[in-house]
Amino acid sequence: MIIRNVRILGGEPVDIRVENGLIAAVTPAGAQPPAAGDQVVEGQGALALPGLVDLHTHLREPGREDAETVQTGTQSAARGGYTAVHAMANTSPVADTAGVVEQVWRLGHEFGHCDVHPVGAVTVGLEGRQLAELGAMADSAARVRVFSDDGKCVDDAVLMRRALEYVKAFDGVVAQHAQEPRLTGGAQMNEGQVSGRLGLTGWPAVAEEAIIARDCLLAAHVGSRLHVCHVSTAGSVEILRWAKSKGWDVTAEVTPHHLLLTDDLVEESPVGAYNPIYKVNPPLRTRADVEALREALADGTIDVVATDHAPHPVEDKETEWSAAAMGMVGLETALSVVQEAMVETGLLDWAGVADRMSAAPARIGRLSGQGQPLQVGSPANIVLYDPSVRTEVDPSAFASKSRNTPYEGMTLPGRVVATFLRGKPTVLEGKLV
Ligand SMILES: [Zn+2]
Repeated sequence: MIIRNVRILGGEPVDIRVENGLIAAVTPAGAQPPAAGDQVVEGQGALALPGLVDLHTHLREPGREDAETVQTGTQSAARGGYTAVHAMANTSPVADTAGVVEQVWRLGHEFGHCDVHPVGAVTVGLEGRQLAELGAMADSAARVRVFSDDGKCVDDAVLMRRALEYVKAFDGVVAQHAQEPRLTGGAQMNEGQVSGRLGLTGWPAVAEEAIIARDCLLAAHVGSRLHVCHVSTAGSVEILRWAKSKGWDVTAEVTPHHLLLTDDLVEESPVGAYNPIYKVNPPLRTRADVEALREALADGTIDVVATDHAPHPVEDKETEWSAAAMGMVGLETALSVVQEAMVETGLLDWAGVADRMSAAPARIGRLSGQGQPLQVGSPANIVLYDPSVRTEVDPSAFASKSRNTPYEGMTLPGRVVATFLRGKPTVLEGKLV
């Protein structure tokens, strides 16, 4: 197969030859005419990036197939330009045994829209009382390397210490959902001026920052790897900057929505006040937090953009604020939101986007076949993206089973044209193959 006339990381137009799932040649556009029998994909000058890797996806299967399945979630991922996702463990049953992680991994393998790497739970049933079978999950066919109780915080310091110690044996990482539960009881949105005016219980920044500080210290103490999920506050950035300056093995992610949206949307937005489409955990924060997060992603203090794709059926979101589920879908809009927040603002170039959305997450997840630069010998995991168009977000066109996007009706830049997984197209001309 030959992918003609694409610009790798925005560079000069080239043709990419793919053989046996690998990049076999990269030549100036038009220099080598296709041979007889070549499958030709016309890139039409599109940007080529390495296939995106998500460290934080909720596929909902098993247990909540009304919200998403491995099939629809991975189709959604492919539409968004992803070639690998990490599937969070808060399913029903919880992914806390080798059996459950292997089931999710196998489903991903069978559908083949993108690679599925299950995240294993840190504690049995996400209950925070007893460590799950981390070693058995690591040794399973799913080869789990990322462990998280995401949705819940491992708030017991002794358990967190034990988990950090345990995963060292197989080069794993604990991904913490940093939320001090006693400080966030009944929390509904960011604690600040807007929550005060609206009379909603606040989720204070300190509840996130206190756990991140503690966990950085624990990771340093036991010499292990820590990853911090969905960082949302300026204070968290300060703590991460300090931990990294010490040389500690701490990484962090930010979601697209925390790079673009703020808590005042809960009070005033095109879809009215108290609209649960903006209800998410951690909550949308202030403009100052957004600015700090963008700066941290640009300078590498935050390593990764991760979607926290959290599908929910209509009945769980279109209800009163206090009863609504927390979370937003994100796979199909992530690259566009990152372009809007980071590229259009001049904070990140396309090489930076490729690092934060592909190379860095693959490295943290220890995925050897993902996140590699588009050069000869690399697996042909490629997304073709047209950054020049602006389109209105239409959730009815999503491949995801759920529609809970905060961007409905918003105009965002860019469009995924094609996605290739080891040379096999999963999306062509914007449509699933
Ligand atoms: Zn979380």
